[in-house]
Amino acid sequence: MGAITAAVQACRKRIAAACTEAGRSADCARLLAVSKTFPAAAIREAHAGGLTAFGESYLREALGKLDALADLPLEWHFIGPLQSNKTRPVAERFAWVHGVEREKIARRLSEQRPATLPPLNVCVQINVSGESSKHGVPPEQALNLARLVASLPGLRLRGFMAIPEVDAARSRYALLRSLLEQARAEGLDVDTLSLGMSADLESAILEGSTMVRVGSALFGTRGYRGQARSYGVVVSQ
Ligand SMILES: *Cc1c(COP(=O)(O)O)cnc(C)c1O
Repeated sequence: MGAITAAVQACRKRIAAACTEAGRSADCARLLAVSKTFPAAAIREAHAGGLTAFGESYLREALGKLDALADLPLEWHFIGPLQSNKTRPVAERFAWVHGVEREKIARRLSEQRPATLPPLNVCVQINVSGESSKHGVPPEQALNLARLVASLPGLRLRGFMAIPEVDAARSRYALLRSLLEQARAEGLDVDTLSLGMSADLESAILEGSTMVRVGSALFGTRGYRGQARSYGVVVSQ
């Protein structure tokens, strides 16, 4: 068995164990494989190991991989910061965008989504770390942006996404959960909390995550500037 295939299985076990511990069904959280910085060959192996959803953060790099892997039925998620002059290829070629944090970006994505495709799935990114992060809307503005996304014809609001600090207090997660509940209470059709990475997927699932974004635990470590340092992880069984 290849290293990535073994890592996919180990990660699935972690997710299932956390779902069980949380008293949720064993498949309560989807696994989004974060393949940024790793080559198309690594994605092919992960797909052979049973994964279909892949997350990318850097647009130019991502588009090269989308082309190289066009023969596979993959679901692409854009999870990086998105500038307004780069929305078109994301609207045309991705299935999900996790980091929508501005009205202007949402409107452009909706206008540029081809009518031949289903609406683009969108999570509104929430800044749960206050001033230490530049990304995401402040929690008190999240519902406004969510309402706007829900109203745009080219988009489908799915829920919220956050990147908490490593040692985030549980109150930060509770805030996300309560926003999801508030959104539901006012009739918004949300089903997704995109939360948790390689190091914290268990606590994220305990706090209600429905989609974990896992990179290094599947593909190996990334270097300082984000280059893949090695690929393939050693998994202890
Ligand atoms: C890189 C990245 C991840 C994956 O992080 P790992 O620690 O490698 O699992 C998840 N979410 C976002 C937004 C990322 O940029």
